[in-house]
Amino acid sequence: GRGPGPNAASSPKLLLRRLRQALAAPGDGQERLNQIVGLIAHSMGAEVCSVYLIRGQDTLQLSATEGLRSEAVHEARLKIGEGLVGIIARDGRPIVTARAREHPDFRYLPETGEERYTSFLGVPIQKLGRNLGVLTVQNERAMSYTEEESEALALVAMVIAEMAEAGTLVPRAEGDEEPGEPVHVQGQGAADGVAIGPAHLHEPKLLLPNPIAEDPAHERIRLREALDRLRADIDSMLDDEEMAANGEHREVLETYRLFANDRGWVRKLEEFIVSGLTAEAAVDAARTEARLKLGTASDAYLRQRFDDMDDIAQRLMRRLILPDAGRDQPEDGAILVARALGPGEMMDYPRGTLGGVVLEDGSIGSHAAIVARAMEIPLIVQAKGCLRAVESGDTMIVNGDQGHVHIRPRADVVTAYEEKLSLRAQEKASFTALRGVPCRSVDGCAVRLYMNGGLAADLPSLNESGAEGVGLLRTELHFMLNKTMPTREDQASFYGHVLDKADGRIVNFRTLDIGSDKVLPYMKQPREANPALGWRAIRVGLDRPVVLRMQLQALLRAASGRPLRVMFPMVAALREFEKARAMMLEEVERLDMDVPPSDIKIGAMLETPSLAFAQKRFFEMADFVSIGGNDLLQFFFAADRTNERTAGRYEVTHPAFLSLVRMIVERCDEGGTELSFCGEAAGRPLDALALGAMGIRALSMRPASIGPVKRALLAADLSAMRTVVDGAEAEGVRVRDALIEHCHEAMIPI
Ligand code: PEP
Ligand code: MG
Repeated sequence: GRGPGPNAASSPKLLLRRLRQALAAPGDGQERLNQIVGLIAHSMGAEVCSVYLIRGQDTLQLSATEGLRSEAVHEARLKIGEGLVGIIARDGRPIVTARAREHPDFRYLPETGEERYTSFLGVPIQKLGRNLGVLTVQNERAMSYTEEESEALALVAMVIAEMAEAGTLVPRAEGDEEPGEPVHVQGQGAADGVAIGPAHLHEPKLLLPNPIAEDPAHERIRLREALDRLRADIDSMLDDEEMAANGEHREVLETYRLFANDRGWVRKLEEFIVSGLTAEAAVDAARTEARLKLGTASDAYLRQRFDDMDDIAQRLMRRLILPDAGRDQPEDGAILVARALGPGEMMDYPRGTLGGVVLEDGSIGSHAAIVARAMEIPLIVQAKGCLRAVESGDTMIVNGDQGHVHIRPRADVVTAYEEKLSLRAQEKASFTALRGVPCRSVDGCAVRLYMNGGLAADLPSLNESGAEGVGLLRTELHFMLNKTMPTREDQASFYGHVLDKADGRIVNFRTLDIGSDKVLPYMKQPREANPALGWRAIRVGLDRPVVLRMQLQALLRAASGRPLRVMFPMVAALREFEKARAMMLEEVERLDMDVPPSDIKIGAMLETPSLAFAQKRFFEMADFVSIGGNDLLQFFFAADRTNERTAGRYEVTHPAFLSLVRMIVERCDEGGTELSFCGEAAGRPLDALALGAMGIRALSMRPASIGPVKRALLAADLSAMRTVVDGAEAEGVRVRDALIEHCHEAMIPI
């Protein structure tokens, strides 16, 4: 039967007060959890109250219970998505039912003895969009829980989430290190290089001392004061002349000011304080709630609004916890640690300040990775557990070549890495010495080496690396770093700057390549089941020609008579190329400038296998073709480049891919089409040699790779390597192994 029933004791405020008293007493994590479930069960008149916490990737573990069999604690497990509890953990939404057993997803855990209980109320334990677990109450007889009870439970779940995050509640998982000990995390290297430096947390850890308020009136005053300071911060940033000169930044600040004065938001915060939370916990609770409402919105505008709101909440939080501190800037050479980073966020740190980046999430093919490579700093993704282990200022070593992260390394590890770094510096000097040497293989094949770029910050590398030009300029990066669509003038001035810096060397401007993993916050992208195969790149450009036309106009203006080379991304068929090319020619005509048509070269990126098999006419019509190896590889092998499970599965040196390259070389020769290869493989010496052996005579890569690739090419006999490829294929030997062996024997540095 039911205990006291809905009464004053289950009011959120009272429940929190009791909880606060109970938690004030000393105890370890498990004792605290036990107290919490006992207290909830008692004050809500529930026979059962349980906490399930997420362990590992996809498992929920019964971590404390009042009412279920105590032997089942730490034993009973569910998969996320399994049963009512699993569904709450998956979807992050509460479930309430008076007849759990009739619920289609009901699945009871026999070891807990819960089959007797009919009524069920469960809420997610979550913080900032991350699900940490589930809190449930159950009763034997069929009854419905009141709205108030459900709210009370949600509030307690927030308290549990705060404490779990602070590490005061959940017993440390196995393998967790004590702070202060050296920690090694194995992630995946997404941008090469090695760096040693002090840790800088992208989002500082703001641990909440106690989420339950002692005195709500005092919390309200603290909130008001922090809000005042926040508004003053924003005003002074707006007054800052340098900031004000930057139109785009100004707009963001104006938006922030609106939020800081948003009555709805302030009211929400005060409500949470009234129900018993501290000001900090109220800010977090409001963030969590907003994330639940807006975080999954597909509307780009709403999502952007939400991101801004989230940012302002984070600033308010800092003001509450550190009333006088400003935003701390990283020291020079700092290692940035974050859960995930957009490419724009990385650019917020001035070039040269970051020594390396470590992400808990992220992927090798993501644009954050491309930006890191452009900035020539090591990046490690999927470094699970780093955020938990690191404190701001800890010494860190990042080894992007092997995916190692060392936190607070032992002195001998530091010494070993310092030696490595000094060797690298020597190597770099030797590459600099190669800059003026023409790139010719031993058997006399000239191979032109270009750099990939996309940001103004890349351009100094043109001279430093000795690249012959920019083989791929990813124009979407400029779009991605802006909060609003860059105007034609804005684009023209950026492209003009690029041409100025190139100073007569060629630049292949690749038109906007968005969709898939590259999203513009201000441009609506439909939700798609397979975005990589979806509405992206030239497909968007042809269907929504306004943006593409504007870009072509900006390019023509920027060139203003200088030679211009433009290529279209992801062209899959002749027809698409014809349309895009016609659009370009129309703009040339419309602009009525004095450009000799021969100075405008129109090309296509070959990124889908279908284009390799296009009609002959395509190769005759295109002035140049650039193989986009990253995409071509993923489509050729049907292996998602951003999916960690499949991205590393196939390689350029696979005989099937080499045959494809060989065929493209032949078709371009027949059509009289210039051919180059861009994409990450061009920058890996062994892959670059294999491509050279197939007849590729122009490679475009990140600037730092030009030295190593050139060194390898200078030592290689490309026709001998072609023989190695053919021989290995004929004998059924793995081509890659045969190439590596050949390079070792011929002393070709790969
Ligand atoms: C490619 O696909 O190889 C390429 C160079 O383009 P992106 O990596 O920008 O898709
Ligand atoms: Mg591509």
